[in-house]
Amino acid sequence: MTSDYEFLTVDTVADHVRSVPALAQRIDPDHLVSVREIGDGNLNLVFLLHDASGRGLILKQALPYVRMTGEGWPMTPTRARFEVDSLRAHHALLPEHVVEVFHYDPDRFIIAMEDLSDHWVWRAALNEGLTHDGAAAAMGRYVGAVAFGTSALTLERTALAQAVAAAVNPELCLITEDLVFSEPSVDAGRNSVLEQNKPDADDLAADEEFVTAMGRAKWLFMTKSEALIHGDLHTGSVMVHAPEGSTTCDSVKAFDSEFAFYGPVAFDLGALWANYVIAAARAYALGNAARAIWALGMIQQTWDGFESEFRTRWADRRDPRVWREPFLEQLLATWSEESRLFAAAEMSRRIVGAAKTKDIETLPENVREGAARGVLLAARRFVRIQGADGTPPYLAGLAADTLRESRTS
Ligand code: ADP
Ligand code: MG
Repeated sequence: MTSDYEFLTVDTVADHVRSVPALAQRIDPDHLVSVREIGDGNLNLVFLLHDASGRGLILKQALPYVRMTGEGWPMTPTRARFEVDSLRAHHALLPEHVVEVFHYDPDRFIIAMEDLSDHWVWRAALNEGLTHDGAAAAMGRYVGAVAFGTSALTLERTALAQAVAAAVNPELCLITEDLVFSEPSVDAGRNSVLEQNKPDADDLAADEEFVTAMGRAKWLFMTKSEALIHGDLHTGSVMVHAPEGSTTCDSVKAFDSEFAFYGPVAFDLGALWANYVIAAARAYALGNAARAIWALGMIQQTWDGFESEFRTRWADRRDPRVWREPFLEQLLATWSEESRLFAAAEMSRRIVGAAKTKDIETLPENVREGAARGVLLAARRFVRIQGADGTPPYLAGLAADTLRESRTS
């Protein structure tokens, strides 16, 4: 097993930098003025280093277990390699929207990457009530670039097979399969909700149409190897920055892609959409309807960014002899439909499952009840939408109505 390696501490990060010439050029290990462990995620250690001339560096180390729960839940640290490989592949396709990796230590599972500590984690910014316009479209473009650039539309046949093989990531996929698709309706002992929301969780589990849809979503996730997807593209996996006094982003970067594998393109879109609905639920709960509508408008922005990036790149597809224009339209229609299925999965799991969101969990209980209920109900309604009906404005409208009518005070 790969658990016999030295974990980084604030006292040893300088030694690591010193031992890697490529890093010692980026930051001065002998004049570090600040070293902090800033990890707030569920899984890994993250250190932020600054030197005397103001340069920064991030070192992220995978532990042989889940940080959130401790050593009782072992997890292979080789997951860091999936993160590095995908970040590098994605960065090559769209450097402006993916964090840059500088070095990887495969023996200690340490990723050295670009310091984005002047950015907000998008979820935190949303929860603060800040506005970062442009982020939703940028992440749509990111998914579009990845969908095209890592798939059979771009890669030569042998290269594709090798890329798929190198990204086989069953341990992390299993977590998604359990937490995102199965457990929201079949509690494995890790679920929890407020007492007042127990009937809502029970209704979800008893909803035959919803559970059947989740079965389909899980099947798609396990079988549809379209592209090297991010695999966990929620608003906590995106960093945003806007200039002082502006509400429009000048930088948007995806990060934290250790769940990457060859999977369905729509999974990443659905994760984003779901988290916009969750952000809207928070806004309604706090009495800010205008902000909720703004959050739901991001469903369209992400889709538009995705579609336009994908359509632009489509001109360069490998086999235009058979991959003709009608197939492009079919692909987009299929992804739109699958995205709301995946969005429903992500919405439900974030309310009842083990990994919740600060958006909802930091709400006062009296209004959290309605927010949680609304998100669960929206998930159940999303899976009932037929075919082409589910345009982004329709989804936004349906979510708005559902969240509004579910509000408690
Ligand atoms: P985990 O895999 O444990 O979820 P993350 O990659 O999400 O770890 O990192 C945890 C936290 O560390 C992030 O939420 C963010 O606050 C911080 N962080 C991670 N990468 C960077 C970076 N490149 N620049 C600045 N902060 C970062
Ligand atoms: Mg994270």
